[in-house]
Amino acid sequence: MNILVLNCGSSSIKYQFFDMKKELALAKGMVSRIGMSGALLAHKPFDRPEVKISDEILDHIAATAKVIAILLSPEHGVIKNKSEIHAVGHRVVHGGERFARSVLLTEEVITEVRNLIELAPLHNPHNLRGIQACQKTLPGIPQVGIFDTAFHQKMPPMAYVYGLPYMMYKEYGIRRYGFHGTSHFYVAHRAAAMMGKPIEQLKIITCHLGNGASITAVNNGLSVDTSMGFTPLEGLLMGTRSGDLDPAVILYIMGREELTLNEANTLLNKHSGLIGISGVSSDMREIIEASNSGHANAKLALDIYCYRLKKYIGAYAAGMGGLDAIVFTAGVGENSPYVRELTCRGLEFFGVELNSQNNAVAIGKEMEISTDRSRVKVLAIPTNEELVIARDTRDIVEKINQK
Ligand code: ADP
Repeated sequence: MNILVLNCGSSSIKYQFFDMKKELALAKGMVSRIGMSGALLAHKPFDRPEVKISDEILDHIAATAKVIAILLSPEHGVIKNKSEIHAVGHRVVHGGERFARSVLLTEEVITEVRNLIELAPLHNPHNLRGIQACQKTLPGIPQVGIFDTAFHQKMPPMAYVYGLPYMMYKEYGIRRYGFHGTSHFYVAHRAAAMMGKPIEQLKIITCHLGNGASITAVNNGLSVDTSMGFTPLEGLLMGTRSGDLDPAVILYIMGREELTLNEANTLLNKHSGLIGISGVSSDMREIIEASNSGHANAKLALDIYCYRLKKYIGAYAAGMGGLDAIVFTAGVGENSPYVRELTCRGLEFFGVELNSQNNAVAIGKEMEISTDRSRVKVLAIPTNEELVIARDTRDIVEKINQK
């Protein structure tokens, strides 16, 4: 079975096309600047070099059509006929309380995803656009939704209910949902495999450190707590997001600077975090470089980033009553020995001992980076959300085909 995996953002579509017999990504790529000048399709077949094609791409329907066209192209493609696309798996950011697992995107489900726009106004509309684009360009092909929130849906209420009047949860659905679930799920399972133990017997903390960042406590294979909350703003310090904050600060700033709701939202989501503190960049590579060359606020941003991570690791180990492994993943987690080192430094007291040689060379690859005698294993694991989406899509479509 061949599966197209789509991750649709406001002006971009990332895609991978899988041959599921071999679990091989035959092609991957991205359409960027959809609806803007300078729209670009970057496409990489697994066995040939990447090509970049600039074109006018007005909307997600046109972008999806371009993706399908290049998959079929004699020169850059990997299939000959549209019928070789057997199913589409979509990353959907918010599944609310309704979706604790991946589902076939029927009209009824699509309506429910649309109803969740209120909870995820920045993400779900684009995911829906991608779904509609596929309904038009690939009519009759089954589509499956894989939700970022699903893995966290089994958290206990003590982890997801906020200290607000309870009616806020009941009436408005205000609670911790958590995000990056597909990534936390994938790396937690890889960690168990690397350790040669059933995940049901392990206490694992997974740190997904990309532009957005979140950390999850995975106890016996279940997400029992996670740092992102009602929206992806809560928790760790991120590239442009503040993470944890005294909520009164927001009220104070809004009053002081006479900010509208939109302006406050932009301040917290786009101008805070690494870029806000350092004034240098939201990119961790540039923060590390500036910090090393003596930029005081870049160093401060880096220190806050790693200190907050460390605090969460301590909190989640306490919450789970123990810890067997810490996993680092996504752009920063997979590629930055320095961030991993700073985060783990001082955690020796509860059994974390980094192997600095292994840590230094674990860049973009799966590797154990703790010493042999470290009681808590530390692992660097590249995430693969697309593969989880493709697997779920395959399983759901196979079940339907059996009926
Ligand atoms: P996204 O959340 O957009 O998917 P990624 O997972 O690709 O993002 O992570 C992007 C982040 O990874 C950026 O902040 C980038 O600086 C960081 N990153 C990538 N390579 C390195 C590296 N070698 N050292 C430190 N940070 C890195």
